Amino acid sequence: MAGAIALSALAMTLIVGVRYLVASGGFAFATRLRHPGLYAGLDAQMRREIGWSLASAAIYGVPAGVIAWGWQNRGWTRIYSTLGEWPLWYWPLSVLLYLAAHDSWFYWTHRWMHRPQPFRIAHAVHHASRPPTAWAAMSFHPIEALTGAVVIPALVFLIPIHVGALALVLTIMTVMGVTNHMGWEIFPRFVHSGPLGGWLITASHHQRHHQDYRCNYGLYFRVWDRLCGTDNGLGRFDPPDRGRGADHDRARRGDGAGIA
Ligand SMILES: [Zn+2]
Ligand SMILES: [Zn+2]
Repeated sequence: MAGAIALSALAMTLIVGVRYLVASGGFAFATRLRHPGLYAGLDAQMRREIGWSLASAAIYGVPAGVIAWGWQNRGWTRIYSTLGEWPLWYWPLSVLLYLAAHDSWFYWTHRWMHRPQPFRIAHAVHHASRPPTAWAAMSFHPIEALTGAVVIPALVFLIPIHVGALALVLTIMTVMGVTNHMGWEIFPRFVHSGPLGGWLITASHHQRHHQDYRCNYGLYFRVWDRLCGTDNGLGRFDPPDRGRGADHDRARRGDGAGIA
């Protein structure tokens, strides 16, 4: 039994790692086509981002693998695979509930990680990406990766979800994690700058977090940022050299370690 659990943990680590390489690699390739030179001079940073992200893949993969084993063999979790088990209207609602719960957890743990000590110990790894690239999606210190890795495994015990809806949640999580760090917008203008953009987080919003640090802490929605007065609006995408210079100045001043 222990062998089967270990095998499931290993398989899930591989799946998370390959999913990261395919998603980040795909969007990094799209960046080369759409914005050649955007990542120029960032080779060493991107290597570090890939290293931290692959370590995070194991931290995400192990608990997910153990729970996947328990789901298959012990009936753990509230994941269901027969569509009719819950009303159809619940399917999209469950996706929203998962995103809202993850977003709330992320907002508050992220805000906490901007306090001086946790920032120095853990979160500085993520902010060492100046500016972030498509490879920074899972570039977290192991402590931060752990705070992210527990969310979905905890939620599947609490909130019923169809296996297909869970797959959609994981896809949204992956795509937004990559595209929010990519340095340009893939969404049409009406999404991020129209009325919808007032509530949704895309690259322009998270870019501002990486530029100004003490604002825009959310993951998917701007609700908590707006309620708590930490929303500073959308960031700008500077030409590579100018943006990097400004961020280096900021890093020298130590603004990154500010209190949330
Ligand atoms: Zn980030
Ligand atoms: Zn941060």
